[in-house]
Formats: sequence, C-alpha cells, structure tokens
Amino acid sequence: MKIFTMTKTVTRNLVTGPATLMYPQRERIFTAITRGRIENAIDRCIFCGLCARRCPTYAITVTKESKEWQIDRLKCCICNLCVEVCPVKCLSTGNHYASSVTERETAIHKESQAASPVPGPEETQP
Ligand code: SF4
Ligand code: SF4
Repeated sequence: MKIFTMTKTVTRNLVTGPATLMYPQRERIFTAITRGRIENAIDRCIFCGLCARRCPTYAITVTKESKEWQIDRLKCCICNLCVEVCPVKCLSTGNHYASSVTERETAIHKESQAASPVPGPEETQP
C-alpha cells in the first residue's frame, strides 16, 4: 500500500527536520578523511617533479630552477597519487574544499620557496 509508505515517510520527515544544512548560518563540519584540496608544505619540497609526472590530469607544474610549485585546482580530481609518491611527504590532502572561482586563472594555486606564496582563492575567501 503506497499511501502507508508515503505517510510513513512524511511523518518521519516531519519529526527529523530537513536533511539540508542552513548554510551559511550552520557550517558543515568536514570529517578527517574528507578529500578536499591538495596542500604543499613548500618548505620541505625538493622540487623533484615526481608529483607532476605521476599526476593523471597534469594539474601540477614544478619548476626546479625557480623553486616553484603550482596546482590547477580545476584539473585536480583528488586522486591522491601525488601525495602517495612524494618522497619527502610534503603533500597532503586537506579536508577543506577549494573555494569556487569565476575566473579559470584564479583556480591556479602557486607556492614558491623563492618568494612569499601567491595567495589562491582559498586563502582570500573564508
Ligand atoms: S613530489 Fe613532493 S618533493 Fe617532489 S616536487 Fe612534488 S611536492 Fe615537491
Ligand atoms: S590529487 Fe591526483 S589529480 Fe590532483 S594533483 Fe594530485 S595526482 Fe593530480
């Protein structure tokens, strides 16, 4: 009897409240294993380029001469391969997502040992 199934569902929804969060009043708390965005502890990076060579989407670019590392977050599929192959374990998967962007260029996040890190959209937005 479909009417009883529907009544059961409606009653359950009435007492449990909405499944969605009232964002931004209530922020989602990410779990420790959430695959958000790739982060690089640039001080430990040796610019070997292994992460860039193993990345299946060519999201990472490493320039050894100028000690620069960059990631195009729109290309990254968070497969975690770069984190696994990094010999000094300076890469990690942060449990926060990168902020949405309206310009493709602002999705490119750069880190450098030579100069101060270039802020990406996730550093400039909450
Ligand atoms: S694999 Fe690790 S050490 Fe090598 S360039 Fe990538 S982030 Fe740096
Ligand atoms: S997580 Fe995967 S897709 Fe993203 S940068 Fe690392 S290797 Fe490339």
